[in-house]
Amino acid sequence: MAQCAVCKTEYLEGQAKYCSTCGWALIPYPLTFEIPEAFLEKQQANLVWAKQMWARSQFQLKQVQSQLEQLDRQSAQLQSHLVETQLQREETDRQRIQLQSQVQQLNQEKVQSQSIISQIQSELEISHKNCFQTQSELKEANQQRSQLQSDLSQLQSQLELCNSNALKIHSSRTFNNRKNTTSIRIKRS
Ligand SMILES: [Zn+2]
Repeated sequence: MAQCAVCKTEYLEGQAKYCSTCGWALIPYPLTFEIPEAFLEKQQANLVWAKQMWARSQFQLKQVQSQLEQLDRQSAQLQSHLVETQLQREETDRQRIQLQSQVQQLNQEKVQSQSIISQIQSELEISHKNCFQTQSELKEANQQRSQLQSDLSQLQSQLELCNSNALKIHSSRTFNNRKNTTSIRIKRS
């Protein structure tokens, strides 16, 4: 098989006029045709130029392919990072919903606790009132007790005075009786 003089692509002789890869003219000059020397030199210079251009374009193509591969790798990395970020976001959303639920539950418990606290405070106020009333009653009872003790000691002193008077009266009567008896005896005798 023949090869293209510029890009080395194989081809069947007589089948194509131009190379399917680089477009170089493939038709050979007929052997009967006498080619001028100057034309051959120019043709040779064209071939050298075409080979250089082909090599340069292949080099640039490889560079572009390399850049494309790098871009593909970066794109894959970014895609992976995006998936990871989405997963993290979903996890964060899930935690946020869970925390919101816990906050709601805590708020409900707080309201219940506040209700219980105000109930206890109300009962405590009633107890304080009762305690104050009891203290007041106790103070009044103590005053009454002091008054009664005072009355009692007054009555006791009055009673002692009465007893003393009664004793005096009794002894006076006894003395008079004896005196009368003695006078009667004296009269009899
Ligand atoms: Zn070619």
